[in-house]
Parts: sequence; C-alpha cells; structure tokens
Amino acid sequence: MSDKEKLYEGKAKILYKGPRPDTIIQYFKDDATAFNNVKKGTIAGKGIINNKITELVMTRLSQIGIPTHFIERLSDREQLIYEVEIIPLEVIVRNTVAGTMTKTFGIEEGTRLPRPIIEFSLKDDDLGDPLIPENHVLVLGIAEEYEVIEIMEMTSKINDFLRGFFAGIGIELIDFKLEFGRLDDGNDGHFLVLADEFSPDNCRLWDFETGEKMDKDRFRRDLGGEVEAYQEVARRLGVSLELEDPKAEDEE
Ligand code: 5GP
Repeated sequence: MSDKEKLYEGKAKILYKGPRPDTIIQYFKDDATAFNNVKKGTIAGKGIINNKITELVMTRLSQIGIPTHFIERLSDREQLIYEVEIIPLEVIVRNTVAGTMTKTFGIEEGTRLPRPIIEFSLKDDDLGDPLIPENHVLVLGIAEEYEVIEIMEMTSKINDFLRGFFAGIGIELIDFKLEFGRLDDGNDGHFLVLADEFSPDNCRLWDFETGEKMDKDRFRRDLGGEVEAYQEVARRLGVSLELEDPKAEDEE
C-alpha cells in the first residue's frame, strides 16, 4: 500500500489517490468503532467482507438504475471509485424501530413501521452526527432542494430493492445509512451518485426466523460472534471470501 498517496484515513476505510485524476482507491480496514469513536476494536476479515458485499450491492443497484461511485473491485480490500464531492449528510432509512429511534422515542426495538422513515443526520463527528431537519439542510446550503428530492427518490428505490434482496436470503433489513456525492459530468455540471459503502457496518440485518442480529450491533452491544455474523451474510449473498492474494493478508 505504501506506494499509493494517502488522501484520507477514516474509521473503517482509507482513501488513496487513484490511477486517473477523477478516481480514488477505497481500502477497507478491519477497524471497528462505535458510539462516535468511544468504543474501538477490530473485526477480523471485516474489510474483505465489506469490500465484497459493497461490490455486490453497488453492482445490483446500478443494474436497477441507481448511479453509484463504484467502478470495480481491485483486490481483496480495495475498490476503485469515482472521486465525488460528498454531501455531508447521513441518509438513514428505518423500516423497523431500532437503535437511536428506540432511545429517542421510547418505542420498543423490533416494532415494524407502517411505512419507511427517511431521515437526515449531519455528517459531523465533532457534533455527534445530529439529526437535521430538511429545512435546515436547505437554509444552511448543505444541499439544494432538487438534490434533496432526488436523494429521497433514490433512497426509496434503494430501500424497496434491498428489502426484497435481503428477504430473499432470509434476512430482514431493519435500517441502514447511505451517503451521496456529486460527480462531475465533465460539462461544468454534476449529478448525484450513491457513495461510501453498503455493508453490515452501516445497516441492521436480522435473521427472519431467529431474529438474530447479523450486523455491527454484535460489536456495539458486545454480543460476540461478529466475525461469524458478517461471514454468514456474505455466504447467504453468495459472496466468495476466498482470498485472491493471501500473501497481502500475511503482510497485514
Ligand atoms: P442509529 O441512528 O439507529 O444508530 O442507526 C441507524 C442505521 O444507520 C444503523 O443501521 C447504523 O448502522 C447506521 N448508521 C448510523 N450512523 C452511522 C455512522 O455514523 N456510521 C455507520 N457506519 N453507520 C451508521
């Protein structure tokens, strides 16, 4: 990795300069954090699993007409993506009550919502990613009105597709977080694309039959078995975890 120019290191990923000016290499780490960095640890092999699950989900979403930043997977832990201007919003979809919603509104975890809720949080660790109303997003200039409309439409479509996608492998999609970015159209304009990742790190997945949690809540809540849970999600999705470059892993 040392020959690549590091642009940014986040909690779960590192971004390196890509081979072309408009590209970036996204490297998936095993590091796991929760509660805004208060809890830190690692989940062995998580980076490989999340890289490959993200590849699958981004590919399927582009097949249903969702533009994404994903270009191709390069290795066990790396994927090539387009460089985008990230909109600093966490777009959260809730199908069933869990996590923050349980705490904030005192509604029992597992309560199914009559229709999905889409909410925004400001992507700002120092402020603790606060919930932000749409009016604030517009008045503060975080996104334009047409962008908010497009984000809502794309997010609804993504949720409809992914609920069915996971239901097909016996998993209930409880909630998830998305990020969007502006991609240069090469003509002085831009269009919105889905960015970041989609993996058990940023969604809640419960087994339909047993209700067992198969996502980062196993780490957040000290339930144990996080490695096995992530591997099981990959297995059900038909994602091969066979290493393409075992030597690179030895050097980790
Ligand atoms: P909650 O707001 O209940 O903590 O999270 C709702 C959903 O969004 C969960 O699936 C959670 O994993 C995801 N999520 C919320 N905030 C973050 C974040 O800062 N990072 C990641 N990776 N996922 C988040």
